[in-house]
Amino acid sequence: MVSGGEFDFIRTRLGPLTRNHAAALGLRDDAAVLDVPAGQQLVLACDTLVAGVHFRVDDGAAVAAARAMRSNVSDLAAMGAQPLGYLSALSWPRGIDPRWRDEFVAALADEQDRFGLVLLGGDTTSTPGPMTVTLTLLGCVTDGTSLLRSGAIAGDDVWVTGTIGDAVLGLASLEGETGAPAELVSRYTHPTPRLAAGLALRGIATSAIDISDGLLADAAHIAETSGLALEISADRVPLSVPARAWLDAGEEGGLGRLLSGGDDYELLFTAPASRRAEIESLSLDAPVTRIGRAVAGEGVTCLGPDGQPVKIDRAGFTHF
Ligand SMILES: [Mg+2]
Repeated sequence: MVSGGEFDFIRTRLGPLTRNHAAALGLRDDAAVLDVPAGQQLVLACDTLVAGVHFRVDDGAAVAAARAMRSNVSDLAAMGAQPLGYLSALSWPRGIDPRWRDEFVAALADEQDRFGLVLLGGDTTSTPGPMTVTLTLLGCVTDGTSLLRSGAIAGDDVWVTGTIGDAVLGLASLEGETGAPAELVSRYTHPTPRLAAGLALRGIATSAIDISDGLLADAAHIAETSGLALEISADRVPLSVPARAWLDAGEEGGLGRLLSGGDDYELLFTAPASRRAEIESLSLDAPVTRIGRAVAGEGVTCLGPDGQPVKIDRAGFTHF
């Protein structure tokens, strides 16, 4: 049941986020009705963020909104999809400060506009537990062109966008870890989904995934789904200047931490070696770096500078 206060909140606060898109029916009906462009397929992604688990309440409402939206948009990017709209399911803790709530909705508006999304519907509730934010994103791709995890072929190159390990260091800095570079905080609080790269890689990449769990873990997802192995040259993995400086300062287990740290929201993808020049000449929103190759077998192997397998020390990752 929707109380009078919730009706008012939906009408005055969430209503404007529809940007008057016809599909939202003014948030006044039981569901949204969306036309899918001819020759296109819908791509749907859903993520839930829980306060205290996936975002830190003390970082503010804008960070919660940014992380909720961008982690979801990153999933569309990984599929090569163009964003269309989204549904939001918001559960507010009882007694939440209305200013925090309003700040969250304002930030959500900024975030949706950044990625070309409009609110199409959803639900709001209150909860005795922590706040949860569930966003369901809708995107579209031309029939049969979505990027999947399952298409890698032995012999393919392995590529990654941007730089790796920044978010885990940014979070460490937020949590007060000595030596963690503060200039990487925004890479954790406001990651950049690689939408342009995902769109450009349709028809070129044989598989793709966004890096949410960590480079090695997400590479393992491609390896498993594609039924092969990925070899990653550890010294080829692109690092930002602050991450490189942090690593060179000699943090124990540092490289493993960067390669297994989550939340970067870069794209990891495979492509035939014959497409190298084409990939390098793409005009993307981030650099792309070739870091390895797909081979017969299973799992993920890290190679040292001499091309021999190395062990990356980090809980959960033991390779040879
Ligand atoms: Mg993903």
